[in-house]
Amino acid sequence: MSQDIQALLWAYGYIGVCVVAGEGALRLGLSRELARKVIHVSVGFWIFGALWLFESRTLAVVPSLTAVVANWLIHRKRLLKSVETEPDNLGTVWFPVAFSALVWLAWDRPAVAAGGVMAMTVGDALASLVGRRFGRHRYETLGGEHKSLEGSLAMCAGTFVAVLATLTWMPGVAPDMPKVPLAALCAVVATCVEALGTKGRDNLWVPLAAGAVLALVPPEHAWGLGVGSVVALVIGVASWARGSLSPSGVLGAILVGTPVFGLAGAVGTAALLGFFISSSALSKTFRARKAGVEAEYAKTGTRDLGQALANGGVAALAAVLLGTTGDQRYGLAMLGALVAANADTWATELGVLSRSPPRLVTTLRTVPPGTSGAVSGAGMLAATAGAAFVGLVAAIAGARWSLVPWLVVAGVVGSLVDSFLGATVQDVRWCDACSRETERRVHRCGRPARPLRGFSWLGNDTVNVVATAAGALLAFWA
Ligand SMILES: [Zn+2]
Repeated sequence: MSQDIQALLWAYGYIGVCVVAGEGALRLGLSRELARKVIHVSVGFWIFGALWLFESRTLAVVPSLTAVVANWLIHRKRLLKSVETEPDNLGTVWFPVAFSALVWLAWDRPAVAAGGVMAMTVGDALASLVGRRFGRHRYETLGGEHKSLEGSLAMCAGTFVAVLATLTWMPGVAPDMPKVPLAALCAVVATCVEALGTKGRDNLWVPLAAGAVLALVPPEHAWGLGVGSVVALVIGVASWARGSLSPSGVLGAILVGTPVFGLAGAVGTAALLGFFISSSALSKTFRARKAGVEAEYAKTGTRDLGQALANGGVAALAAVLLGTTGDQRYGLAMLGALVAANADTWATELGVLSRSPPRLVTTLRTVPPGTSGAVSGAGMLAATAGAAFVGLVAAIAGARWSLVPWLVVAGVVGSLVDSFLGATVQDVRWCDACSRETERRVHRCGRPARPLRGFSWLGNDTVNVVATAAGALLAFWA
């Protein structure tokens, strides 16, 4: 007990010194941002004091809970210049909340608590400092903030080093746990959470997400997921640079790529790369030739988060189920989802080049190219070829060759499901000015398009999820 009281005195003394240092730095002419970071980083390092100096878990969280209350009061009353930010940014409150939660929940696994807090302390500080100084390639987050690629990559690198150092020096993860890939996965996950950019709440979710990775990833999947996340990050950023993915699409690539690369082995990796590379190449190659028609589709050459998840989400979920249950049928379902996504993408990219006019899949009447739910001979051929391509790539990587015909069927059926939904229940709109059907809410001429048929909530992304799920179900029973 007396040790805990001494530890409490140390805690308040240390935090007091940190705040005085920050205020002093501000008065000596340091920028407000830098002064804030001085406090943020130095207080974050208290995690080692909280874990080492206290005997009681309950008393160990008292200083950080005090900080929650104090920072909230400071925020409301605007008491300290150096810790102050915009009025609606509660980051200084959320950080000690996460700190307290990690100390409490991971008391017996110090590396988990310390790794989570260090991801925030070092990673986030680097992200904003590097972002402010060197940020050139800017993007808008889903939370509506402006961040930079340079800042996010600095966060990723800084988190990797900070977490790796923590894991090396502190007990609390399994002794046989490979530390390098675990730190890498932690870094990519923390960077993604930070890149969501939701007004200070990343101060809560970054440490909790990093801690969850350290606590929950089983040793046998650490290498796969760690390497998979880095490969997905590199591919995602490269595709952003090439114009195939929007910034939010990079997040989608990581969310899909990490489980598929990490849990589904060579077959999953080959199939996803086959889908991603071939469909990006096709949309780039034919972009100019079909510019007029493609503009009517909701999907364009640059894919965002919704489109990445719509095409790859079912495959990613199947890969997670494969990794957690070990049931090989989920591996088949993952392939079914990927062949369906590829069949539909090839059909969309190549089908619009058809010379003869397409027909609606339900009534078979002739419709203009680009109509939702239209099929053509060229499109069907492209769907078959797209499914066969991913099936063959998977077989070369080690899947059963006898599976390929099944996968072709699953892919073509998935693509037909997409067309059928497009012709019946999908939200399709009409532009009065141009007298054209479109999947877009705002037509490319800039005018809002009015509802023509289907359910307004059933957009192209939802249709893609259903189509890939159909392919997954068919392959699951193969
Ligand atoms: Zn129009």
